[in-house]
Formats: sequence, C-alpha cells, structure tokens
Amino acid sequence: MENKGGFRGFLGFFVVVGVIFLIVYMMNNNSTTRDVSYNVLDFKADVEKGIITDVGIFPSENVPMGEVRISFKGVDGQTVFFVSDINEIEEIVQGDSKLCEKYEVHAIKKDNLSSTMLLIGVIAIAVILIVFIMTSMSQARAMSGGSNSKILDFGKNRAIKIEPGDEGAKTFADVAGLHEEKEELAEVVDFLKAPEKFTSVGARIPKGMILVGPPGTGKTLLAKAVAGEAGVPFFSLSGSDFVEMFVGVGASRVRSLFSDAKKSAPCIVFIDEIDAVARRRGSGLGGGHDEREQTLNQLLVEMDGFSVNEGIIVMAATNRVDILDNAILRPGRFDRRIGVGRPDVRGREEILEVHSKGKPLSDDVDLKKVARSTVGFTGADLENLMNEAAIACAKEQRKFITFEDISKSFIKVGVGTEKRSRIVSERDKKITAYHESGHAILFHLLPEVGPVHMVSIIPTGEGAAGYTMPIDEKDDMFTTRNQMFQEIMVDLGGRIAESIIFDDITTGASQDIKQATRTARDMVTKFGFSDVIGMVNYADEEEVFVGRDYGHTSKAYSADTASNIDAEVKKIIDYCYDEAKRILDENMEILHKSAALLLERERITREEFEALFDAE
Ligand code: ADP
Repeated sequence: MENKGGFRGFLGFFVVVGVIFLIVYMMNNNSTTRDVSYNVLDFKADVEKGIITDVGIFPSENVPMGEVRISFKGVDGQTVFFVSDINEIEEIVQGDSKLCEKYEVHAIKKDNLSSTMLLIGVIAIAVILIVFIMTSMSQARAMSGGSNSKILDFGKNRAIKIEPGDEGAKTFADVAGLHEEKEELAEVVDFLKAPEKFTSVGARIPKGMILVGPPGTGKTLLAKAVAGEAGVPFFSLSGSDFVEMFVGVGASRVRSLFSDAKKSAPCIVFIDEIDAVARRRGSGLGGGHDEREQTLNQLLVEMDGFSVNEGIIVMAATNRVDILDNAILRPGRFDRRIGVGRPDVRGREEILEVHSKGKPLSDDVDLKKVARSTVGFTGADLENLMNEAAIACAKEQRKFITFEDISKSFIKVGVGTEKRSRIVSERDKKITAYHESGHAILFHLLPEVGPVHMVSIIPTGEGAAGYTMPIDEKDDMFTTRNQMFQEIMVDLGGRIAESIIFDDITTGASQDIKQATRTARDMVTKFGFSDVIGMVNYADEEEVFVGRDYGHTSKAYSADTASNIDAEVKKIIDYCYDEAKRILDENMEILHKSAALLLERERITREEFEALFDAE
C-alpha cells in the first residue's frame, strides 16, 4: 500500500512537471524552428531570391549580437537564427531599396517572453516540489503513528509498546508448558509488582536476562507474559532494528529506547535477536564494524547507567549465545540466562490445547496422539499446525476439525509442502520406494529407534524425494550407545536397500551418509564411545564463526590421533552397514512388499506398514 501510494505520488509529480515544460516550450516556441546552420550568407541569398516575407530582429543588450526571426514565403512558422552582428542583417535588408519595400523590420528590444516563461516554469516546479515533499512527509508521519516518522526521526527507537490491557498483552495462562521457566520468571513479576518487598531486605534483582532457544519456542511470548502478569508496559524491538547503514544511528536509538523506558518505569524492555548487535566485538570478516560496536557500547552504557532497582528489566532473546560478546553477559548486565527449549510430549500437548481453543475439534482428534507425532515441533510450529488444520476444515465448510485435517497440515508444516504436481519418473519413484522402505524396516525392527509414523515417496517442497517419519515415544534425556548405532543403521538403510535391489547406487543418499558420519564421529570424538580413542574430547568447536576462527584451523591433536579417529569412525560405519544389510537381507520379502505398497499408494501410515509384518 505504502509503496504503491508513493509510486503513484512520484508519477503524478513527473506528469505535472512534464506538462508544465510542454506548455512553456510551446508558448515559447510558437512553431519556430531554430536553425543553427543558417547564417548571414544564407539569409542574404534568400533575401535576394525574394522568398523571405518577414524579418524580425531582436538585438541583445549591450552587444551587437542578436536573434533574427524570419518567415519564408508559403511556409508556416518562423525560422530563428543567431547572428554575431545585427547590423549586417539591417544592411542586407535596408541596403537594397527594392527589397526594402517588401520587408518589415521590427528592430525591437530583446523579447523577454521566453525568459519570463522559463522563470514562471521554474517557480511552478519549485512550488509543486515543496507541496509534494510536505504531503509525503505528513503521510509518512500519519502512517507511522505520529511521532515515529521514518524521515523525521531517524535516530529514534522503533520499539513497539504494549500497555497492560492492550490487545497484544499476554499472561502466563497464554504460555503452555515451560513450567520451570515461568517459575523462574515469577520472581521478576513479584519484583515489578512490589519492589519494596525486595529492596527492604537488600535483594538485588537482575537488570537483564537472556532467553536462549530456537526460534518459535515462545521467548517473546514469555517476556510479554511477564509484563502482562506484572501489569507494566512492554517495549519490544529486534536487535536488527538498531543496525542501520549509518554510524551512530544505532547508538542514538538505544539512547532513545532507554529514555522512553525510564519514563515508563517500571517496565520490561525486550530485545529480540540480540546477537545482531551484541555479537563478539572485533569479529566478522572485513574489520570495521563501527556501527555495531557503537550500538553495543551504548547498550552496555545504558545498562550500567540505571541503578539496580530502578524498575527496568531488560530481557533479550537469542538462538546463538555462543557468539555473544562476553561483556554483555557480565554481572549487572545480562547475568541471568533462561533456556527455552523445544517442548517435550507433555509440553506439546499443552500447547496444542492452548491453540485449539476456539477451534471445534471432532471426536476423532486425540491431541495426545498429535503431540506424540510432532517431535521437534516448536510452539510456533504447533500453532501453525492447528491453524492450517482449521483452514483446511473451513475450506470444506465443515463444522469440526478432523484428525485428517491435522494429519494433512502436519505434512505441510513439518516437512514442507508435498508437491504432487512435480513429475517424478517411474524409475525414480521405484528407487525412492525401496530407499524409504529400507529406512522404515530398520526403524521398525531395531528396538531403540522408531516406530514409524509415516512413510512417503511424495517429494517434499524442500528437495527430499520422500521421507520416513518416526515417532519418538520417549522423551529421554540421554542417548545411549546402542541407540546411536541403530540410528546409523537406519541412516544407511536407504542406500543399502538401493544397492541390494538395483545393481547401481544413486546420489540420493548423501544426506543420510552425512548424518551417519556425523553421528559416528560424535561417538568417537565427543562421547568417548570408542575404546581406541578413549574418553578424550577431540570434537572441533561445532559452529565455527567466520571471522573469529578464520585462519585458526590448526587442530589440537596429532596426525596419528586424526587417523585413529578416522579409522574408528569407519569401523563404526562398516559395522552398522553389515548389520543393517543382514537385517534387510533377512526381510527381503517385506522390503519388496513395502516398496510395492508405496508405489501403489505413494504414502502409507504406521498401521499399513506394520500390517506387512503381521502377514508374515
Ligand atoms: P520466539 O520468540 O521464541 O521466536 P514466539 O514467542 O514469538 O517465539 O512464539 C511464536 C508463537 O508460537 C507465539 O505467538 C505462540 O502463538 C506460539 N507459541 C510458542 N510457544 C508457545 C507456548 N509455550 N505456549 C503457547 N504458544 C506458544
């Protein structure tokens, strides 16, 4: 809307300017032709030929130069040319008495018409320009709610403020699961409600806390709920809002944010994606990050500036606590850290309940079952899932959301949209069917992994040819050695099935191989599962941050150790490969049946898949 309006405004402006130019031009020109190649000699010749009917001489002031306008016999309009000495023209015209009779010579003073018109044009354009700028500025101000005009208040913060009782205000009741996190934050709520209780016994409440966890796990929601519970205003903005191209803008926005917050204290200031400003200083490629460093310094200055119990609590969220500047985590700044992880089964069920409020569910919907099959989903994913299901239901004009609606949405939200329309060759389909069946059979038969929730050979929108989705029925905290072995076997199962059935193998298993290798390497270098390597951690830092670690690729262990690690990793993979191949060889009939069923139906459920084993 905004862009379109702006574009139209610009277009209008140019049209008006164009029209003015045209008018000025036409008035000024009045069908005259300027002819730079026409000169006195041509004029003389034409006069002698008698084809010129009218001559007008317009001398310039103080100099002999001037403009001459002439009309030709039988031709509309005038031709204009310049001469360096108008006397020459007068001589030609007046010198010959015969010719003189035919011509009218108005040797008038320079005509100021053209310059007057030009002046009017310029003034008109200037006036229009001023009016245009003023209207667009007032529009911008109106659009950004009065005081936060982007044009006028570049250095002002762009925080969104939620007052208690506003529509966006939340309470702990809106936050499902996250029980420990809420308990920890209840203390902050208490402080904001009744600070005297704490100050009277000399307690210090942290000024800043940092919420760490993947996107969509409810960090913003928690911070909002703290403000809502305490009944204080909530200022929120994202770290990237501070960062602009121009040095100094970020720092000035930080200043403005805290000055606003102080006026509304007690309050909560929430900075999402704090890593955008608080990344370790001096890091990143290319040096000079003056702007970000200034912004971070200003943030630290502000946080140190207000006293402990002033009533401003700064909450920040990030997914990457490892790249934050240590200065920000020091006592008196963001010294309290709260981890907000992906929800477990119970958490997921509670979140589903929150988000199915106001959505009539049919009797066949068992949220427990949905929760069980949504391992790894965040709160935001689950909300999205229920919303998609409601949309699917509404499309078919049904009154109740069915399990089928949720199942369909599950694929959409969890694995990316299925694309039935993409043409897949029969050969590819067959390979994928055997590949996925290989994974699925191992998932089913190996006790520490699986069971299978769904097997599909419909390509997902994200490049996977198919998928085998397990259900994680256990929310175990630890992964055992056996489990890791079996995970590797499952990863390799796809490729093994391909190699058993087809003489050739495909490139489709690269992700599986990568995953299997990573697991095996972690077993050796991180978890001490290898007797040869022992309980020594040789794992490289997982996420190498470009810049900080740039050029520091030397390993802290010898080449011997490195080759031992490689040998151990290979041993694990080889063992898993043989073991998985043995299992698949023994279940060849099921492999064929499963692949055939997949080819027929394209997608099979747990029940359909498990029935293949019962028929044995
Ligand atoms: P984050 O800040 O961690 O990226 P948000 O707080 O913005 O995540 O969560 C996005 C949305 O997901 C929320 O608006 C909410 O609808 C839903 N959500 C996430 N976690 C929960 C939860 N624990 N309970 C209820 N809804 C949740």
